[in-house]
Amino acid sequence: MQETIQALRIRIDTLNLELLRLLSERASLAEEIGALQTQMGTSHYDPVREGEMLDALTAANRGPFSNGVVKSLFKSIFQASMQLEVASDKVKYLTSRQTHTEDTVVYLGDVPIGSTHSPVLIAGPCSVESAEQMDAVAQFISERGVKVMRGGAFKPRTDPYSFQGLGVEGLRLGREVCDRYDLKFISEIMDAKDLDAFVEHADMLQIGARNMQNFTLLKAVGRSKKPVLLKRGLSATIEEWVMAAEYLLYEGNQNVVLCERGIRTYEKYTRNTLDVSAVALAKLETHLPVLVDVTHSGGRRDLLVPLTKAGLAVGADGIMIEVHPNPAVALSDNKQQVDFREFDRYLNETGYHNKLSEKRHEVYGF
Ligand code: PEP
Ligand code: MN
Repeated sequence: MQETIQALRIRIDTLNLELLRLLSERASLAEEIGALQTQMGTSHYDPVREGEMLDALTAANRGPFSNGVVKSLFKSIFQASMQLEVASDKVKYLTSRQTHTEDTVVYLGDVPIGSTHSPVLIAGPCSVESAEQMDAVAQFISERGVKVMRGGAFKPRTDPYSFQGLGVEGLRLGREVCDRYDLKFISEIMDAKDLDAFVEHADMLQIGARNMQNFTLLKAVGRSKKPVLLKRGLSATIEEWVMAAEYLLYEGNQNVVLCERGIRTYEKYTRNTLDVSAVALAKLETHLPVLVDVTHSGGRRDLLVPLTKAGLAVGADGIMIEVHPNPAVALSDNKQQVDFREFDRYLNETGYHNKLSEKRHEVYGF
């Protein structure tokens, strides 16, 4: 008796393998159909077809399973095939950690941004105003170990009668002082038609909050392959922000750094609300470096130190801050830029001072 059971079991094992082979063959065919349906834009689920297959199966059923059992078995097979088709439909986003598990490091020449590298500090005026102003800031920040200077040449201003920036001349001034003091230069591009000038003069292009979903600009900057800092839009969801980055990567630009700069909320004590969870989430969901702009997020000098600490505590790869020789007479953002004395205090209080070359865990303990 025992021997008969053993022999029958051997036949069942063989049939199991044969069933598996047939099921896999069936699944491959279903996948092929799914891919064609995706191309045609039609749905994967066809209840009429499913009904016809079940009818054919029950008509052919000679037992010992009842028709109900046959239906239920095959429905499980249909459902598993459907799941395969839907899974193969899911877009694999280039920004996602699921496609790219390692942290991306973006290099501005020899200055790395991201991963275990020490947090980068980008400092400089809101706007490029004059050769003297740029020279003073560049000399001052470079003496303190800062490696990247900011300065807007094309300014996105709410009021059309306010200072709009020096344009290409501002880019030239920025390049000149950055070369003089061995700094990298970042500036905001607002229009794809200015791309050549930016590629020539800047080391990193900034896409500002107001242009985060300017898809023509994103595509052009994506094709340029220049390192780019993508600010989060004033009212953009994290998904919209990451999708904007996806445009850049899709066009071939791997050198993308995200920047949280505060979002618009009902709060009036601050200019914007720094969304620290967005920083943490962007780090978790994407492999891109993430910076925090502490000037535009709070819009208050007395928040620069705590917001810097908060940003770094949730994993930011660096900070952007506006510095001006004389903020009171600045042509833009004169209420929130810091002067040199305040910047020195900021460096001391945040632990950046004399520590810019150290690894982040040595400075911050995390
Ligand atoms: C800026 O950095 O100069 C600027 C205009 O910032 P945002 O786009 O974040 O408002
Ligand atoms: Mn500004």
